[in-house]
This record gives sequence, structure tokens and C-alpha cells, in this order.
Amino acid sequence: MSGKEVNEFSVFESMAARFDLAATKLGLAEGMKQYLRSPNREIIVHIPVVMDNGKLRVFDGYRVQHSLARGPCKGGVRYSPNVTLDEIRGLAAEMTWKCAVVNIPFGGAKGGIICNPAELSNGELERITRRYTAEILDYIGPERDVPAPDMNTNEQTMAWIMDTYSMHVRHTVTASVTGKPVDLGGSQGRREATGRGCMIVADQALKHFGWNRESTRVVVQGFGNVGSQAARLMHDEGYKIIGVGDVAGGVFNTDGLDIPALAEYAQANKAIAGFPGGDSIGTQEILEQDCDLLLPAATESVISSKNAHKIKARILVEGANSPTTPPADDILFERGVFVIPDILANAGGVTVSYFEWVQDRQGYFWPEKQVNDRLEAIMVASFNDVVRYGGKHSVNNRIAAYMVAIDRVAFSLKLRGFYA
Ligand code: NAD
Repeated sequence: MSGKEVNEFSVFESMAARFDLAATKLGLAEGMKQYLRSPNREIIVHIPVVMDNGKLRVFDGYRVQHSLARGPCKGGVRYSPNVTLDEIRGLAAEMTWKCAVVNIPFGGAKGGIICNPAELSNGELERITRRYTAEILDYIGPERDVPAPDMNTNEQTMAWIMDTYSMHVRHTVTASVTGKPVDLGGSQGRREATGRGCMIVADQALKHFGWNRESTRVVVQGFGNVGSQAARLMHDEGYKIIGVGDVAGGVFNTDGLDIPALAEYAQANKAIAGFPGGDSIGTQEILEQDCDLLLPAATESVISSKNAHKIKARILVEGANSPTTPPADDILFERGVFVIPDILANAGGVTVSYFEWVQDRQGYFWPEKQVNDRLEAIMVASFNDVVRYGGKHSVNNRIAAYMVAIDRVAFSLKLRGFYA
């Protein structure tokens, strides 16, 4: 990617470099560029929690709201020792672009708490979650900002946030979060939505190349919500999943892995390393194996200037947020890799979150088939929008996706005008 030097491992700088390139190509005025590059609001909280041993600990947490131009902010909350404000700031902006690419009426936000869930009891996690929610309460809600699950958070976390919010406002507000249990107003199909969205865009890429699923060899990095659902759905539909990795290592089998058996093994062992149905392999190494379609669904910056030249896949479906750095974009482009960028590839999650929010506000719930059909219609239309736009303006898919998104957000802002 041309332009000024960026720290390729900074999520915010990576987002900003892509934004600058796309906004310049769109001819966006300098003031608008400056406004859209920066977040609307950044909240930092210090959360006091009494641990199980009776001692008090303080955890740092963030919520960054990037844009409210097209509707309430929307974005996940992640728990990890590696959370930084830079990362949350970059991911919040990416959420704005993602919602605009799939044309749903939300802006972007992201939240995170610096903690290691593996070392925390369920009770400690619940207390951290509830106090974090209480600290940001004035800034969230169905019309303001709607949290969702992300790395190391899940349906239970969302249930705690929803309950805490509801206790404070004195009535049950199911639309205050998405990705919650179906019994508490969650949507059918939300658990699988991000993985299903990845499969839908993968199918479109196959159509683009005239390939079929059965002869497409797939490697998936990450076996959490996104990776495991994508692997399971793709396996069920005939794709040949030859490699899967998680944080502790991976398994590889050129004849194809038995994904339902792997999921059972992962459930029982809390890891996939040691699965008897394949050879063991390192989790970074797995990205460089010979395959047709690579689906990183773990964490950011795993494909960088250090390893992009070793990627053998022809199609890259970015299930994770920001898995590829800007210098790696250039290398992949030169090598002819067809990249389906994160803000399109993993937008199935936020799309079904939008459906969940709509259903909660109506108090009327849709059958799973309706959710899946509407998701497919949006993902296919968005894929076509991006690929067509890229062709028309001679830019790669990532910059095309940014251009489509920035154009939509800037247009909404122009219509609204700038209030004093
Ligand atoms: P998760 O916590 O359920 O799973 C993460 C997986 O990645 C685990 O298998 C973990 O072992 C693995 N992992 C973590 N660090 C790794 C590393 N350094 N190397 C290899 N593997 C590693 O998280 P998730 O919800 O599946 O999210 C995964 C990615 O997808 C994140 O980038 C997230 O922001 C993005 N995403 C998630 C959703 C969603 O609906 N959950 C939606 C859009 C994007």
C-alpha cells in the first residue's frame, strides 16, 4: 500500500492507512477525512472487583464509539490480556465501515477489558462484566450503543450485560445487547452467523473462479465462535477442510479433517492439539500450507510483511478482524490472492445482530430459515457491490469495500449536516 510509513502491527494505524487511501480516491474533503478517521468518543474505565480470595483488583476497560452517523453504535466486547486502546480504536472504526458495507443502520464501536479469562472464575468474570457495564451505562442502550460478543466473550457475557443494564433502567431491555441466548431474546442463527457469512462469501468467490466446493482445500486458523462454525458449516456443505489451528497448535490432514469429531475433541479437551485425525502443526505455520482457501478466524496481524509471501492460498476469507497488515495487502495483491476483506467477510455476525435488535424491538421473532435467507441476500449483494466497485475503479477488494463504506457514511453526514 502506498503512502506514509505505518506501524503494520497497530490496528488503528492499519485502519487509518486504508481509510486514507480509500478516502483520497473518493476525493473526500480534508476536513471530512479528519473527522471520519477519528472516533467520536473514547471511554476509559478502571473496574474495581473483589476477587474470590477476598482481595480487590482493578481492571482497565475501554469502549470506543467511532460513529453515530447512520444509527446507534454497534460492536463487540473482548476480554484479553493483549487488549489496548489502539486496537479498540481501530476495531471501532472498522465496525463503522463494516456496517456501512452491508448497509445496515448502525455506526461502529468496540469495547474491551484487559484481563485473562483463563485465570478467572465464572463469578469473577460476572462481577467484572457487571461493573464494566455499570461504568459505561450512560453511553450504551438500544438507541445509543449495542454491545455484542467478541474474543473470549459469549452469550453468557451478553446476558450479564443485558441484566445489569435492565436493573439500572428498571425494565427488561433485551435490545441493549445482541448475541445473547435465544431464551433471553437472542436470534435464531446468531451463533453461526459470522461463520455462515464467511461461507456465503467463500461460495461467491468460488463462483467467481468457477471452482466447486468439493475440490476446494481449506485451512482455518482459530476454532472459537467464528472458526469452528465456519469449519463446521463448510465441511457440511462439501468443502475439504485440511487444516485447523488454535492458540495452542493445530492439526493438518491433506485427506480432509473430520470436523464434527474435531469439534467434539475440542469441547472435551479445551484445545485441538493432539486430535488423532491429523498431524500436529504450529498455529502460524498452518497459514503457510498449500491450500486453496485460507480463513484466518483468530486474531489480528497474523499475515504481515514477514509471512505474506509464503501464503499459498488463492482465496483469503478474513473471518477475524484485521488479520492482514497493509504491507501484506500489497504482497498478496501482487501474488494474485483474491482477498475478501474482514469488513465484508465477517459482517455476517453484525448483520444477524441487526436482525436480533430488530426482533427485540418488535417483540416478534423470526424462524431460523428467515434469518439465514435474509443474511444470504445481504452478504451476496454486498459481495457483488464490492467486487463490481473494485473492478470499476481498478482497486483491490479491501480498498473497494472501504470506498463503498466511506461513501455511504460521508453521504449520511452531508445530509445531516454538522451541528454546532
Ligand atoms: P473466540 O474467542 O471464540 O475464538 C478465538 C479463537 O482463536 C480460539 O480458537 C483461539 O484459540 C484462537 N486464537 C487466539 N489467539 C490466537 C493466536 N495468536 N494464534 C492462533 N489462534 C489464536 O473468538 P471469536 O468470536 O471466534 O473471534 C475470532 C475473530 O473473529 C476475532 O478477530 C473477532 O474480532 C472476529 N469476529 C468475531 C465475530 C463474532 O461474531 N464472534 C464477528 C466478527 C468478527
